[in-house]
Amino acid sequence: MEGESERTKQMRTIRDELVVFTDSPLYEYRTANKYHPVVGEGSHDAKIMFIGEAPGKNEAEQGRPFCGAAGRVLEKLLATVSLERRDVYITNIVKDRPPENRDPLPDEIEVYGPFLDRQIDIIQPKVIATLGRFSMDYVMRRLGLAGEIEPISKAHGSVYTAKASYGDVIVIPLYHPAAALYNGSMMSTLEKDFQILKQYAYTL
Ligand code: URA
Repeated sequence: MEGESERTKQMRTIRDELVVFTDSPLYEYRTANKYHPVVGEGSHDAKIMFIGEAPGKNEAEQGRPFCGAAGRVLEKLLATVSLERRDVYITNIVKDRPPENRDPLPDEIEVYGPFLDRQIDIIQPKVIATLGRFSMDYVMRRLGLAGEIEPISKAHGSVYTAKASYGDVIVIPLYHPAAALYNGSMMSTLEKDFQILKQYAYTL
C-alpha cells in the first residue's frame, strides 16, 4: 500500500506467509476451527517488544495477541509505567493456538521461531521483554545468552545485554501475565519488574 513504511511491508509479508503456512503442525487445527494466525500488534517503530508464548482462544478468534484475560493484565501493567499497547510491539513465539492452550511443543517453537527472528530484525527493539519461560528460553538462546539462562523464578526482572543483528538489545525476562490470574502475589512481582523495564524504557 502507498505510504506504508518498509517495516510495515515486511510485517505484511510475514502475515501473508503465516496465512498459508501449511507446514505448521498447528495449521489444520487453525483451519478446522476457523482461527487466525496471530502475527503481532503495535508500533512497528517500537523501542520495546513484548514476546509471549502462543495465542489462546480469544487471540486465535480475533487474530490479535493478548486480547483476552492475560491481555487485560498486560494492559494494566503497561499502564503502571505510563505505556499503552500502541507504544510497544506485542507478539508471541508460536503464531497459532495450540489445542486446549497446552504449552507449545519444541517442534512448534522450532517452526515459528524464524518468523519471530525476522520480526525482531524488522522492529529492531532496544528492549525485549519476554513473557514466560518459553519466550525467555527462546530469546536468550537466539541472542547468544544460552549460558546465562536460569529458572524464571530467579531470572525475572534481571537485565541482560545481547548483540542482535542490528546492535545491542536489552533482554528482560518477566513472568507471564497469565500467572497473575491464578496467583495474587504475582501481580505485585510483575509490577516491580515493570518498574525495572521502565528505567530502560525512558532512557531509550
Ligand atoms: N498468552 C500468550 O502467551 N499470548 C497471547 O497472545 C495470549 C495469551
